Amino acid sequence: MKDLSISVRGTTGRITLQRPDALNAMTYDMCLAIEAAFDAWRTDPAVTRIVLDAMGERAFCAGGDIAELYQTGLQGNYAYGQKFWADEYRLNAKIFEYPKPVISFLHGFTMGGGVGIGCHGSHRVVGETSQIAMPECGIGLVPDVGGSLILALAPGRLGEYLGTTGTRMTAADAILAGFADLFIPQADWPSLIAALEAGADTDVLDQAAKPPPAGHLAGDLDTINQHFGGETLGDILNSLRHSGGEFASATLDRMARNSPLSMACCVELLHRLRGPSLTMAKALDLEYRFTYRAMEHGDFLEGIRAAIIDKDRAPRWQFADQAVPSASVSKMLMPLGKEALKLGETQMTTRNIGFVGLGNMGAPMAINLAKAGHKVAGFDTADITAEGVHMVASAAEAAQDADVVISMLPNGDILRKVASEVLPAMQPGALFLDCSTVDVESARAVAEKATARGLLFVDAPVSGGIGGAAGGTLTFMAGGTAEGFEKARPLFDIMGQKAVHCGDAGAGQAAKICNNMILGATMIATCEAFALADKLGLDRQKMFDVVSTSSGYSWSMNAYCPAPGVGPESPADNDYLPGFAAELMLKDLGLSQQAAEAVDADTPMGALAQALYAQFVQQEDGRGKDFSAMLPRFAGRGRQT
Ligand code: NAD
Repeated sequence: MKDLSISVRGTTGRITLQRPDALNAMTYDMCLAIEAAFDAWRTDPAVTRIVLDAMGERAFCAGGDIAELYQTGLQGNYAYGQKFWADEYRLNAKIFEYPKPVISFLHGFTMGGGVGIGCHGSHRVVGETSQIAMPECGIGLVPDVGGSLILALAPGRLGEYLGTTGTRMTAADAILAGFADLFIPQADWPSLIAALEAGADTDVLDQAAKPPPAGHLAGDLDTINQHFGGETLGDILNSLRHSGGEFASATLDRMARNSPLSMACCVELLHRLRGPSLTMAKALDLEYRFTYRAMEHGDFLEGIRAAIIDKDRAPRWQFADQAVPSASVSKMLMPLGKEALKLGETQMTTRNIGFVGLGNMGAPMAINLAKAGHKVAGFDTADITAEGVHMVASAAEAAQDADVVISMLPNGDILRKVASEVLPAMQPGALFLDCSTVDVESARAVAEKATARGLLFVDAPVSGGIGGAAGGTLTFMAGGTAEGFEKARPLFDIMGQKAVHCGDAGAGQAAKICNNMILGATMIATCEAFALADKLGLDRQKMFDVVSTSSGYSWSMNAYCPAPGVGPESPADNDYLPGFAAELMLKDLGLSQQAAEAVDADTPMGALAQALYAQFVQQEDGRGKDFSAMLPRFAGRGRQT
């Protein structure tokens, strides 16, 4: 193939990109040919390592060849792009987990698709001319090709900074951020490649490495962490705009060129990835959710038009930078169900799932499991239908052939009752996964009964509300054995963005009630502070601008602001319809007080929050309202009322 040279020299497989006039941009055919070489050499004993390099002075590989994607996308053919990205990501994953050394020599520009082939191997060599970047937000995409994995692992908030600004990294910067391993002067590269081809050990690379010339990121890291630690793109922009100074203004200039929707999704994507359950498969899966939708629902076609086709550099993005609705971010990153990225090795096995309790939360969770290809048998005492779910006549029937039974029920008494019907119907080794919020005692009692029958039990209450259930972005806090947790993990990945194994049975419920005790107290504190601010004559928007980036910030303020028309859209903007109902908050605060009493813990703030929500729900007009409706309650009162 003219754009690539693929050969075996000694025991070294060598792949050289040779499209220098196009900065070695990767075409679809190049991607498939590289994958075929990696596949062929994987088990070939005559090849012991792979060297990747490129011709020309200016670039190792400046990205994917996107002009073709644009033409097909313009004609409404989104399938071509989706297939291109899926095949490219499969190659990126193969390079990442390749069982033999993969050595890449990254001179000049290495961007986007170039990072996907050049920055996932075992020895990533940079030199004097290296400039590495993930500039995708500039064309309406998000950092992809597995780049989000590297960004999520970069120190502090460097990932958010590099992803949203597309800043170019020098050799030292790339090593700091985790995109490269070794700085070797480029004059030494030809002789090193020749030595590798003659059979030298890869140690020659370490021996040739030198300290790189200083970069700029190390000195900026504290400032970057300070500005890029916010929850959302809006928080980051607020922080930069309020600070002034050279760094902030240069950074804002760079961000002003990029798609706000892409930047907001980039921040969200990195937050979801960061943490112990991060894998390359998870990073690529999330990236693909975005790129799959990028042409139809994102800014991709407009980004390419402005940058590459018309070259007017004046893209008309869908949203202004401070006005990207959180619903639009969630929509871009929702699970793709049957269309989800498949990487071969991580192909999912279809499971028989019984689902009991398909209310506000349970129904969307069950629908997401069915969309992902699982067979779901559902049961609810109410007359409910859910797309893709086969409804049956009893909880026992839903459990009969199930590998996993999931429940999403109102309280502990109902859980115990359902468990008494379900457990006898389950096959040994199957998993009972309860996602309801219930008391710790009930969770432990059901765990004991399940274990006695040779079944696995995990309590995994959720955070994220109805939006999270529909969008597949819930956080699960799980209690139970490691075996149970591992069995549940692929299902957590479909229904949520994060699962934390908190400890033995009951630990998930313990985490949930502690979390919600904090939530109840911070929501009350936020609401009473707004009411005080009103009486002091302070504008609510100004109050939000200050607190959301100061030490009083919290989820209640930043993500679920109780003041209508302020901050991201929340139930306050919908006449305080739930959302998360005040009576459910009261239930959770009751559970935390019950638990505190059982273990003799001193929780005065929690107790006061419970008393206030009890008064609101039982004596005032709080029932049926969102728990943030505490704001109009406080606003209408004085000290004596
Ligand atoms: P919901 O009332 O909408 O759903 C509960 C469902 O269980 C109902 O459809 C009900 O008919 C069904 N049910 C009751 N008894 C049953 C039985 N014996 N057999 C089968 N089905 C039965 O409540 P929801 O909002 O979906 O909440 C479910 C759980 O999730 C609760 O424990 C809640 O605290 C928790 N939770 C809710 C939210 C939220 O925002 N709604 C957020 C996090 C956690």
